[in-house]
Amino acid sequence: MSCEKKVPFTQADIDKITQNNPTPFYIYDEQAIRENARRFKKAFDWAPMFRNYFAVKATPNPAILEILKEEGFGADCSSLPELLMAQKVGLPGDYIMFTSNDTPAEEYKKAREIEAIINLDDISHIDFLEKNAGLPEIVCFRYNPGPLRKGNVLIGNPEEAKYGFTRDQLFEGYKILLEKGVKRFGLHTMIASNELNADYFIETAKMIFELAVEIKNKLGIALEFVNFGGGIGIPYKPEQTPVDLEYVGKGIQAKYNEYIIPNGLDPIRIYMECGRVILGPYGYLVTKVLHEKNTYKRYAGLDACMANLMRPALYGSYHHITVMGKENQPCDEKYDVTGSLCENNDKFAIDRMLPKLDIGDTLVIHDSGAHGYAMGFNYNGKLRSAEFLMTANHEFKMIRRAETIDDYFATLNF
Ligand SMILES: *Cc1c(COP(=O)(O)O)cnc(C)c1O
Repeated sequence: MSCEKKVPFTQADIDKITQNNPTPFYIYDEQAIRENARRFKKAFDWAPMFRNYFAVKATPNPAILEILKEEGFGADCSSLPELLMAQKVGLPGDYIMFTSNDTPAEEYKKAREIEAIINLDDISHIDFLEKNAGLPEIVCFRYNPGPLRKGNVLIGNPEEAKYGFTRDQLFEGYKILLEKGVKRFGLHTMIASNELNADYFIETAKMIFELAVEIKNKLGIALEFVNFGGGIGIPYKPEQTPVDLEYVGKGIQAKYNEYIIPNGLDPIRIYMECGRVILGPYGYLVTKVLHEKNTYKRYAGLDACMANLMRPALYGSYHHITVMGKENQPCDEKYDVTGSLCENNDKFAIDRMLPKLDIGDTLVIHDSGAHGYAMGFNYNGKLRSAEFLMTANHEFKMIRRAETIDDYFATLNF
């Protein structure tokens, strides 16, 4: 029963890649990414100027940003290197959202220089931005509804979250901006992560639309855009179902018709910053079984470890595993699937039922396309892996080489 998720490449493809590039490595499926991006956009094609700013942190590779740019997406950045990457890919300023927090001055300077849309995380950053980089023509605030809203498991309750303005600060902040001569305004929120409940996003849209009306009534500001952030989840487990994007789109449209249009705020641009739902299902971590060990439990030791994919160790997340060539064999053997870190939580799966494994078997770890490679690290001297793009004509293009020991030593004095 472990074979419900399909792998879009074959063992022969892997064998070809491993002639020159050892496992582990990531593979991203370009065609699937494009089709998904189009589906996503279509769900919001009713909205005036809908745009998803892909959260660069999810999959920070220019080849990926390039594909998404071609599909009409922007980039959501939160650091200087991410801004530089978005700029290098050739995205114009209004296609770059800068949603950061605890932000250094030079990052605001860079964001201003490339005319990215700046989304402030705190009321004190109005002055900080003005002093260090000057105020832009358009400014966005990140709203944290605090006790007015329940968050979800991954991100926690809004009240406990470090992000955003309180409700009072929001009104105060816009007033300050008005006095300083700012003319164009946006409103952002993001209070969920990996959320599979479609109604949650419709509820968030309603909250923001109501707020937009209140901002207009109290301050006379007609917001230019609202940004619902990211956080749409993906079905990591085979029995979970994807978020029905058409349902979310229609639900938000109904709220738009109910709140925005009758209050004279139409057109207002709808923005999002989804990362996971755009890339997650279309990236695969490919790894091989290095050892089998039988002690108090049965272990399959891989050549990948949590330095390549941290989510299972960090959040206890489920990632489905396919054993290449054994898709149709019964999953009647129980394993803890581990990496080699000197950390007992370095496990991709605990008590996972799999087909009987052999040394050298290729394992594909699913749904690793977002917050996978990106969260990698060098603990225990582990080197980051290569990334490959499987193109529409089924070629495997290296879009990032693997780190070498020289890379690892490059910052040290020997
Ligand atoms: C992480 C993040 C996102 C993307 O979240 P996903 O869960 O990948 O959709 C979007 N916006 C901000 C501000 C974020 O921090």
